[in-house]
Amino acid sequence: MKSVLKFVMFMMAAPFLCGVAFLMGYVILVALTIPQLPVWAQPGVTEWLLDIPQPVDSEIGDNGTYGDSAPAGQGRVEWSDYVGPDGVIRGLPLWGPIRHWSNWHDKPLLGCLFHDPFYSNHTGADFPVYPGTPIHATMGGEVVWADYNGPWGNLVVIQNGDYQVWLAHLDAIHVVPGQIVGYDDVIGLSGNTGNSSGPHLHYGIKQRTGEDTYVWLNPQLFFDLNDVINFGCSD
Ligand SMILES: [Zn+2]
Repeated sequence: MKSVLKFVMFMMAAPFLCGVAFLMGYVILVALTIPQLPVWAQPGVTEWLLDIPQPVDSEIGDNGTYGDSAPAGQGRVEWSDYVGPDGVIRGLPLWGPIRHWSNWHDKPLLGCLFHDPFYSNHTGADFPVYPGTPIHATMGGEVVWADYNGPWGNLVVIQNGDYQVWLAHLDAIHVVPGQIVGYDDVIGLSGNTGNSSGPHLHYGIKQRTGEDTYVWLNPQLFFDLNDVINFGCSD
């Protein structure tokens, strides 16, 4: 009778023990696999496999609220009352042919996307491009920031009404705060400044939604995907 009881208890415990063994095997497999992946893929894959929220990169740390949330060394970009012509965001901040390392491409390369699977908190779209490429305003407006700004590197922000266009990691800035720029004007040259792992333009579009609130919009909604080459989130 006792042995029957033992057998029943073992049968009840078996699925649980299998579960524990499976979990341990899974964790060991993950721990062995992740270091083999390229550096840029590691955080995304770790997050996916273990469902651990990743520390927020300072470029992307702007979490959608005002206040003191700006990472160290980052200046707060204010909103002005400016409303003027050409307030419709359209087209691309750079045009082909563009150079990326030693290769030339007919169209700009679209790298890490807005909320990219590899970069889920990414607040804009990245365009990998050789430093020194002219960067154009995709909206006419007032320059509300034109200076170095912590993780953004050399940053230009153009505002018109409730919209701001952010152009980050620039090499050179060709505008000054308070200046009114027209659509398509060159505002600076692309670079690799601030928190940037390779030469690229970070392009962000921010919409004011209230007194102290805003949202980042997907820049892909403002240009034609036929005008870019899908490059992927690599550098
Ligand atoms: Zn970016």
